[in-house]
Amino acid sequence: MATANEAPILPEVASGPAYDSGCRRCARLALFLDDTRAAHPDYVCLPVPPFGAADAPLVIVGLAPGMHGANATGRPFTGDHAGIILYRTLYDYGYATQPVATARGDGLALIGCRITNAVKCLPPQNKPVPAEIRACNSYLSADLCALPDGGAILALGRIAHDATLRALGMAASSLAFAHGARHALPRGVALFDSYHCSRYNTNTRRLTPEMFRSVFDNIATHLGREGARAASALPRK
Ligand code: SF4
Repeated sequence: MATANEAPILPEVASGPAYDSGCRRCARLALFLDDTRAAHPDYVCLPVPPFGAADAPLVIVGLAPGMHGANATGRPFTGDHAGIILYRTLYDYGYATQPVATARGDGLALIGCRITNAVKCLPPQNKPVPAEIRACNSYLSADLCALPDGGAILALGRIAHDATLRALGMAASSLAFAHGARHALPRGVALFDSYHCSRYNTNTRRLTPEMFRSVFDNIATHLGREGARAASALPRK
């Protein structure tokens, strides 16, 4: 069930340094990328940049690249199991030109949507440590700095939720993560929470397609995309 919370402060979206493909701030992750590149020389194995226009009214924040998906292809959620439900849903709601993401150059484009991650580099076991999440937070600030007034942010999971608040200049604990929650932020922006669309969460049905679509219905209402909501009710191709 959606809940609404008023942000206790008026954060200014801080513009951090832009994405840097050569960043090695996190020694553990940089070395892990080196090892992964050696094992998989055909993988991109770099910090994964955001995908989509900087001023898109919807920004989706995930956790981190998956080894054989985004880390391999160099595009968020592309080739990841989590990308199956994400891109399918984005397509259904009119945010993507096709329902499947396989590789950069697959022809997929985002429409009014941007996708990024709280941590840009592949972490071992998909688990970045807190220092790595903090180290990458200035890049997330940069990813969010062009979000227009009245826009929406979708945080996939608690870590993405907390990192988003920090990137906006707010305390990570100022608003609690809850699946289905809608948090009102200054400038008419709203932060929406969803369980991460990971393989584990979808296989265990902690997150079902219907639950995910309900979150996107709420986002469509916030963004005034009633047409997108109507399209979402059409039979899937
Ligand atoms: S996770 Fe972020 S801060 Fe750390 S090395 Fe990668 S790009 Fe740099």
